[in-house]
Amino acid sequence: MLAQHSLRPLDGPIAVRPACPNCGRSMYLKRTCKAADGLAELRTFACGECGVYVTEAAGD
Ligand SMILES: [Zn+2]
Repeated sequence: MLAQHSLRPLDGPIAVRPACPNCGRSMYLKRTCKAADGLAELRTFACGECGVYVTEAAGD
């Protein structure tokens, strides 16, 4: 697979902000973990209201 997009630092636009599973508000990006061989980039989102954290794997 060729890289189809470049990784951006935290000041880049966030394409998808998941809703908090607890309160439904938009979560903010807490941290990212760069993709490694065979592993997708991981993004951890946090809810500022209730402190819930959600980690998602970006891409396929
Ligand atoms: Zn919440």
